[in-house]
Amino acid sequence: MPDAQAEAPGLPDRARRRFGLISDIHANLHALRAVLDQIDRAGVDCIYCCGDVVGYGPFPNECCDILRDRAIPTLAGNHDYAALGLTTIEYFNEVAKRAVQWTRQQLRPDNAEFLRHLPLTLEEDDFLLVHASPVEPREWNYVLTLSDAREAFRRFSRPLCFIGHSHQPFIVRKKGGDLVPLERPSAVLEADCRYLVNVGSVGQPRDQNQQASYALYDRALRTVEIQRCSYDVAATQAAIRDCQLPLELGDRLAHGW
Ligand code: ZN
Repeated sequence: MPDAQAEAPGLPDRARRRFGLISDIHANLHALRAVLDQIDRAGVDCIYCCGDVVGYGPFPNECCDILRDRAIPTLAGNHDYAALGLTTIEYFNEVAKRAVQWTRQQLRPDNAEFLRHLPLTLEEDDFLLVHASPVEPREWNYVLTLSDAREAFRRFSRPLCFIGHSHQPFIVRKKGGDLVPLERPSAVLEADCRYLVNVGSVGQPRDQNQQASYALYDRALRTVEIQRCSYDVAATQAAIRDCQLPLELGDRLAHGW
């Protein structure tokens, strides 16, 4: 069982001010590079990754290498576990299953070890990170409805929780007993509220927007923003063809579903 709480490198917790939050890269190297460039230009003290580094896309090793080279604290996602045989793929559709099997064959042993040791949660003073939901992180529950979100809020006590998994970005605010999904993709955090933020997917967005999604959190300004970033979709599609991964995996990238 991986460590539940690994320490992030670099500045000590309290000195870090700005954070980049990425998730669901799914071996899409072109999207990952574009997002990291944009985050670097925005300037952050630390980047976290909420998991699903691999699965679906054609560059599993390259994406692991970047996260490892940059020492980006990264969570385990269900596709990472699936590629290692650590979780069932019974409920995966045929395309996802084929991609998992292809990924399993491609992963270098050192990258398989990297994925095997990823934690299921990470936390700082003011936020929790988990791939799918703070409700039993290892069961990969989706947060799709307000009732899912309500259950998720019961399972963390910090002001903020960042998740991924559904590939659909959102910000839900909880004030007292009231939950409100915010219409805008950004928020100024109110002192008496807590927030659940899905940062969306870098490598396979599913909200009808082909641009990669991620979030920025500024602890001092008390802001969270979901950001979008265009990348070379055609280059990823070409690599999917070259690797003989299912073509649907390239088609969906152009539509964002
Ligand atoms: Zn995913």
